[in-house]
Amino acid sequence: KQKTIIVVGGLSAGPSAAAKARRMDENARIILFEKTSDISYATCGMPYALSGTIPSRDKLVVVKPELLEKRFRIDVRLEEPVLEIFPEEKKVKTNKGEYAYDSLVFATGSRGAVPPIPGLAEAKNWAHCRTMGDFDALKAKTDDASAKKVAVLGAGLIGVEVAENLKMVGKDVVVLEMAPEVLPAWSPAFGKFAGKVLDESGLVLKTSTKVTSLEVENGEICALVTESGERIECDFLVLATGGIPNTDILKNKGAECVGNGALVVDENMRTSLPGIFAAGDCAVIKHLITKKPAYFPLGTHSNKGGRTAGANATGANERFKGAYGTAIVKLFGHTLARTGMNGAMLDAEGVPYKSTFVIGDATPGYYPGQKPVFLKIWYHADDRRLLGAEAFGEKGIDKRIDVLSVGIYAKLTIDDLPQLDLAYAPPFSPAKDPVVVAGYVAG
Ligand code: NAD
Repeated sequence: KQKTIIVVGGLSAGPSAAAKARRMDENARIILFEKTSDISYATCGMPYALSGTIPSRDKLVVVKPELLEKRFRIDVRLEEPVLEIFPEEKKVKTNKGEYAYDSLVFATGSRGAVPPIPGLAEAKNWAHCRTMGDFDALKAKTDDASAKKVAVLGAGLIGVEVAENLKMVGKDVVVLEMAPEVLPAWSPAFGKFAGKVLDESGLVLKTSTKVTSLEVENGEICALVTESGERIECDFLVLATGGIPNTDILKNKGAECVGNGALVVDENMRTSLPGIFAAGDCAVIKHLITKKPAYFPLGTHSNKGGRTAGANATGANERFKGAYGTAIVKLFGHTLARTGMNGAMLDAEGVPYKSTFVIGDATPGYYPGQKPVFLKIWYHADDRRLLGAEAFGEKGIDKRIDVLSVGIYAKLTIDDLPQLDLAYAPPFSPAKDPVVVAGYVAG
């Protein structure tokens, strides 16, 4: 019998699921519903397309609907939102009709949070940096020479990337962060490294700052007012204060969710509702260290989760085992990266740990362009297995953090690090790599 697989959501996890389902089942009927008119675009690339580093909007479109339709024979339904799902009857209702399914992949992603500042929701001159619609609004302001003053609310990953790119094109950028340091997923010391880079770039950074009210004229925000009464003028506001999973239509049907509303799924990406899989920003991911459900809304995970959900929707038994918070961000000429759990996270879980901090060399001192690598590694106090790492510097940060990420996955200990046969030649690393040195100096 021909199976019908319905995929809800067409950004990242959805198309991955649909394409994988087709690879696994030649005969299935696969329908993908997307509420907007765009599918499969690179949200993560948007900050770079604002500055022209990515030269055009077109380049952000990863897969066109025609490719999914012709190559993968997916029935792509744009501007057809799924309004209700009936898990018992195995059918969905859209704005155009009702469709029965055998299995369903729910990949509705997340939406930008709007902080509860009076008048913000109604004001016109702000945008998130998430959808193509957001991008078009932001790009129009970026290209508008009269919109010189930009405020960015939230110095998380999206906030700092947008701030950097808007600064690059000559805007007067003010970044407002509620937490004491930028990028609060990192430990405060590494947040300070990042904050210093932002300060020195010429943009204005205000941490421990809460916006409590707005000055609005003709429906447009002209200034933000902070708790301490400071007034920050702006022509345009970018909101980057985190995301909210789009899960109401399954939550209403009793699907199990965690506190932020993300759907609980197992390693097969099955939700608690029969026949319904979920992946991407709308679902949790198992934390491979704590073994608890975690929320890591990242493109790389959404592809893996989508692929797994798509395979299993055809009846396969594939697994996406989980993740542990690896992340990396460019800050002008510097890079900040992390993996696993830092001290605060380990304290919160009651895990006994030790840590080691080194300032190593990205390349040997005798080779031109030598730069320092700031590296901290957390490891278990008893069995000494690697638990987390943070790294900052101008060169080779991605390489070191990925080595340590693999080390966590492979359950290496801090004492394994000096034994690693890492790629060595002067343009790439010193004879004693910072990762190796961290192992030497660990107590
Ligand atoms: P985020 O969770 O990374 O950061 C939100 C920031 O806003 C935090 O620093 C928080 O303290 C701050 N904040 C929250 N409310 C605030 C308020 N009212 N006023 C001032 N500051 C406030 O969220 P994001 O930047 O919106 O990004 C969403 C997700 O997208 C991230 O979780 C991330 O996984 C993903 N992302 C990743 C990358 C990358 O890996 N390079 C890049 C972009 C986005």
